[in-house]
Amino acid sequence: MEFGQEFGKYKQVVCARATDKKIQDVAQDGGIVTALFSYALDEGIIEGAVVAGPSDEPWVPKPVVATTTDELIAAAGTKYTHSPNVWALKEAVRQAGIEKVGTVGTPCQIMGIRKMQVYPFSTRFVADKLKLLIGIFCMENFPMASIETFTAEKMGLDINDITKMDIGKGKFFAETADDNHGISLKETHGYEQAGCNVCPDYVAEFADVATGSVGSPDGWSTVFTRTDDGESIFNAAVSAGLIETKEFDDSVKPGLKIG
Ligand code: FAD
Repeated sequence: MEFGQEFGKYKQVVCARATDKKIQDVAQDGGIVTALFSYALDEGIIEGAVVAGPSDEPWVPKPVVATTTDELIAAAGTKYTHSPNVWALKEAVRQAGIEKVGTVGTPCQIMGIRKMQVYPFSTRFVADKLKLLIGIFCMENFPMASIETFTAEKMGLDINDITKMDIGKGKFFAETADDNHGISLKETHGYEQAGCNVCPDYVAEFADVATGSVGSPDGWSTVFTRTDDGESIFNAAVSAGLIETKEFDDSVKPGLKIG
């Protein structure tokens, strides 16, 4: 195992993307989360994945237990507000009867799940059923009311008109049918959850596989495999042709300086 100074323990770091066009079309970045869970479902590595699905309100995520690729695709894309996926793990095991569970979470959520696995107070029968934890990089997350306020007041947008949100190149972007609107992250500063300002983990150091956009070209993802399981599932998905990779090269898209 290599040891990257600021990136936690990892086995490999690559640029990667899903090869399935249906996943590419809806994914936030390279579609790694959706493709990896899809592969894990098909291979019986997991029976369900708790992901951030859509709800009745625009951009408010609702945790769902996806058991098919179509359900994963329906939940693809980043929602920049808290999705209580950890809370839904108990439901997946106890109500849905799923024996092998995957989930995706921000670094703080993955850290919470690992603590729960070490000390499964009131989560007995859940902790040992977690088979694939995918962490997504996260600089900051926003309360939903904050997003509605700054997209309306600083960007002049109605939340119902936004089709994609993204953070990159020092900006917060909101896409609508006719344009891609961006404001400097300096403008959104102060709207983030207070806890994000003291968070020590940007790259989901405790996940099996961690992924985000920073450091990779548009439409691709940066991927760290961190555990034996994470590495073998990721490599198997690559061998099966569901994910393609290329060498991580931070001179192509600066942002993460590895090594
Ligand atoms: P997809 O295949 O599109 O799947 C995304 C998966 O994440 C889906 O399963 C979806 O249900 C789930 N999901 C969506 N929103 C949430 C949520 N709020 N909580 C938990 N699960 C969710 N990447 C960076 O490189 N730099 C950043 O600074 C950064 N900040 C982020 C801040 C937030 C609040 C979030 C949620 C993500 C952030 N990301 C950041 C990660 C990035 O936006 C993508 O989620 C990541 O690259 C995965 O893309 P993908 O194409 O592989 O995922």
